[in-house]
Amino acid sequence: MDFRLTDEQAALREIVRDFAREVVAPVIAEHYERHTFPYEVIRQMGKMGLFGLPFDEEHGGMGGDYFALCLALEELARVDSSVAITLEAAVSLGAMPIYRFGTEEQKATWLPRLLSGEALAGFGLTEPGTGSDAGGTQTRAVLDGDEWVINGAKAFITNSGTDITAMVTVTAVTGTNPDGSKELSTIIVPTGTPGFTVAPGYSKVGWTASDTHELTFDDCRVPAANLLGARGRGFAQFLRILDEGRIAIAALAVGLAQGCVDESIKYAKERHAFGRPIGDNQAIQFKIADMELKAHTARLAYYDAAARMLAGEPFKRQAAIAKLHASTIAVDNAREATQIHGGYGFMNEYPVARFWRDSKILEIGEGTSEVQRMIIARDLGL
Ligand SMILES: Cc1cc2nc3c(=O)[nH]c(=O)nc-3n(C[C@H](O)[C@H](O)[C@H](O)COP(=O)(O)OP(=O)(O)OC[C@H]3O[C@@H](n4cnc5c(N)ncnc54)[C@H](O)[C@@H]3O)c2cc1C
Repeated sequence: MDFRLTDEQAALREIVRDFAREVVAPVIAEHYERHTFPYEVIRQMGKMGLFGLPFDEEHGGMGGDYFALCLALEELARVDSSVAITLEAAVSLGAMPIYRFGTEEQKATWLPRLLSGEALAGFGLTEPGTGSDAGGTQTRAVLDGDEWVINGAKAFITNSGTDITAMVTVTAVTGTNPDGSKELSTIIVPTGTPGFTVAPGYSKVGWTASDTHELTFDDCRVPAANLLGARGRGFAQFLRILDEGRIAIAALAVGLAQGCVDESIKYAKERHAFGRPIGDNQAIQFKIADMELKAHTARLAYYDAAARMLAGEPFKRQAAIAKLHASTIAVDNAREATQIHGGYGFMNEYPVARFWRDSKILEIGEGTSEVQRMIIARDLGL
């Protein structure tokens, strides 16, 4: 067992680390304050190939793997989570369903633009009335001739309303299974389709430079050919997408946790109290040591989950463990980093204030901590 990075992986991590420090850090506080989407940063990430990282070259990707994506997410989130979640959602929720389940024609239509970062796609699973219980989907799609007619609403959909959003995939009830349960399918809805409305962005506590909207579908018609994969496979598809996505969110959480360590070390050396740097106090040193311990162990947890996934082994439990642990310690580290910064930690101009505001959603999005515990317990045979 060897969790050391290859030269190629280490080089990717360095490139993204430099980009985050040199390009993201100087501009992101203003976007965060104004709740604006950082188009220029996203454009540059596209040029670097970050949106194509885990996809093969034949489809316009970079020929890397899911772990490469995770390394990039960790380094971005070490500086800023709005940019990191934009990449995470674009790749693992936006492009991945097309890549995994799409026909060659659907891939040819969508992937070149999605993998180059020129366009973004949203993943419409959550609804105003149902999130954790995603099988409770209410949105319906009825086949009328050679068109699906979609009615319903989706809530909190990332990347669904930017100027470069090209489409969303939507889970909908398309019938009833023989056992009486809902038949769920996934349908591609291009931006601008009549009957598809994107509400104004939410007023969020964190991730304020990322894009999140409620969507409504009112007799929205798309071609029958926009069905993604086989009819009735919607449930299995989103479970697969979310299992993988949990590893990516864990990586993002580790990045935030490590960013808290970085900022705390810097501040503990600079800030003086009682005639010496606060970092000379063992109480502060121990806080930072504990934060490093947490970031390190959470990193090992997501490395392990990613290694299992890439080896083609079962990884559901390990992905849930990684997501649960990394999001928990991200909140811990954000709280302690803010504490170390004292009153300045409560000021938005300090990165740790952003980390604190951005940490909580990690325990909620792509499956709450309670849902992760349910997955782990179920996998243990309970
Ligand atoms: C900023 C942001 C971006 C998002 N992006 C997307 C996106 O791109 N696409 C998308 O589809 N969704 C997205 N989501 C939705 C997100 O995945 C859901 O919010 C999340 O899955 C939780 O669902 P919910 O909000 O409906 O909470 P609920 O399911 O209503 O849960 C409420 C509480 O009850 C708990 N709970 C529920 N059931 C149980 C149970 N059986 N046992 C114990 N506790 C339980 C939950 O853990 C939680 O604490 C996003 C959300 C946010 C805030």
